[in-house]
Amino acid sequence: MPVQFDKTLELSSTSLLADPNLAAWTGCKLEVWIFDDLPSRQALKAALNSRGIKAEVYSAYKPLLHFFLENQSLQDIVRIEIHYPVHPAADRKRFLLEAYPLARMLRDKELVWIANEVQASQEHLQYLVNLTDRLGHSTRHVIDAPNQIFSDHFDQKSLCPTGLLRVTHRETGDVIHRAFFQTDIQQAYHQVMQWITAHPWGHTEPYFERMLIRIDIPGAERFDPEGTILSSTLEALHEDLYFSILEFFQHHSGRPSGDRGLQPGQIVPDIRMGSERVRIQIRLYPVGDALPGLNIDQDNELNPEAGFACAEDFADLQTMTRPIRATAVEHLLGKFDAKVFESTSRQARPVKSIVRAGSRPAIVLTGGQHANEPSGVVGALRGGHWLASVPDAHFALVPIENPDGYQLYQEYFALHAQHMHHAARYTGLGDDLEYREHAPWYERSARMHAVDVTGAQLHLSLHGYPAHEWTRPFSGYVPRGFELWSIPKGFFLIVRYQSAFKKLACAWLEKITAQIALIPGLSAFNAEQLKVYAAHAGGVPFEIHHGIACLLMQNDSQPTGVKLVTEFPDESVLGDAFQFAQQVQTETVRIACEAWWQLHESA
Ligand SMILES: [Zn+2]
Repeated sequence: MPVQFDKTLELSSTSLLADPNLAAWTGCKLEVWIFDDLPSRQALKAALNSRGIKAEVYSAYKPLLHFFLENQSLQDIVRIEIHYPVHPAADRKRFLLEAYPLARMLRDKELVWIANEVQASQEHLQYLVNLTDRLGHSTRHVIDAPNQIFSDHFDQKSLCPTGLLRVTHRETGDVIHRAFFQTDIQQAYHQVMQWITAHPWGHTEPYFERMLIRIDIPGAERFDPEGTILSSTLEALHEDLYFSILEFFQHHSGRPSGDRGLQPGQIVPDIRMGSERVRIQIRLYPVGDALPGLNIDQDNELNPEAGFACAEDFADLQTMTRPIRATAVEHLLGKFDAKVFESTSRQARPVKSIVRAGSRPAIVLTGGQHANEPSGVVGALRGGHWLASVPDAHFALVPIENPDGYQLYQEYFALHAQHMHHAARYTGLGDDLEYREHAPWYERSARMHAVDVTGAQLHLSLHGYPAHEWTRPFSGYVPRGFELWSIPKGFFLIVRYQSAFKKLACAWLEKITAQIALIPGLSAFNAEQLKVYAAHAGGVPFEIHHGIACLLMQNDSQPTGVKLVTEFPDESVLGDAFQFAQQVQTETVRIACEAWWQLHESA
């Protein structure tokens, strides 16, 4: 497949070291903010120091988090007061969210957050931090957060973190040079978006079978001492490109922004850790083209199932600590004593489901609608296995509704196991299968068949969402349209009902939340996440039932009377955290089914 766009960019650190002004700044203090990781920033600092320039190199991305990670011994500190900026061009909570997850990291201190309103004209923003030790001594720290207002792909203005160079005279303290600049990673984002904005796409969806955006760039991946991801610029670039490109095509197609029925084709950012320079390549696979895996480099072969777990039997699922291979799901589905229904996805993968008849009120159970939410796939299989053990249970099971997305998720996982990989969320057509508007139905057929043949009035749809912070630093930082979803808030339930089912849905939600709260470990898990959420999001704007955040809403266009969407923060957790996630999903299926049957028996 020919490359439509191929560009190499110089690293910000390389450009700075080649700056002809450097010689004039010998003896000065130079401060620079870039998106690089700590070793790269230390290397740049050392290179500048060796030229007689006293330098400090800071992270432009999440500067407050990096201040606490890199500078501070907090052993004797008992109280931390943080003044965060509130800028008229950004969400009021933007800089509070950007401080995530300090409320968790500093939970043994008294932590106080104070909003500091700033002028619209002010772009160089700052956090002010007062640290008080156990003897009552206080120190004050100013943490710069350079930001600039950028115009995006539809001329919307957004305040974004950016590069900054500041040179100060060492004796007088005068600032002799101060300039914002676009760092290499910002340039990469804008170069891709400019190419997409200018390309002639035509007016017929899908516009391509796949758009592959391969970027090799030195990223900043930060992990906590337990090896859990804290922040990643590679992931942020994936997320921002994917959602920005979706927004572009929503706009291009004349649809409202956020429209999930849009079928642009499969948008695949493939962001890899590079070195020396930034390389951007965009390939377009025309509609109908066969698609290769992401292992397109001879020198970088990937096993598309690397890291995903096998399972020979249902017993293997109980202790599963990572996502399950699609081939293992198919193998286990073959063990059910039930009718198999098979449809075909956009990319010609089988979508397998089963239906078992019984005399109880029927239930449809699905997982993997959004394919980067893997705990629901294991939960659906285990839940289905339990349903099969209940005499007279009448149910349909579709464990992986979106196999094309799941294949891409497996390939992404081999590259970055802890990233959230939202580009694997939707189907090969680039839409959310639930919102598909017309035939050919492809993968959506499985769900439609399940509801039709069972006549179910309850649909349990198992989902997940990011387990760490989701950001879009190149288009305003907080993900547009998903402002309530950017940081985790525990295991969360969404119930949608047709108007005739309102009373039943409310009674059922009350009954199930009371029991879900008793799942071992869940109450403490939710309480901790909701506490951190409240600190960084300025409150919890959800109904809480028995310690579980819930959204309850009427939807008369859905095919079943009641639908439960479970949301476990599982993108992407591994080990005990994954096992807990899939256990909660499984238990919730059991609780939800039993409560549904009981309510029907007592009606
Ligand atoms: Zn989902």
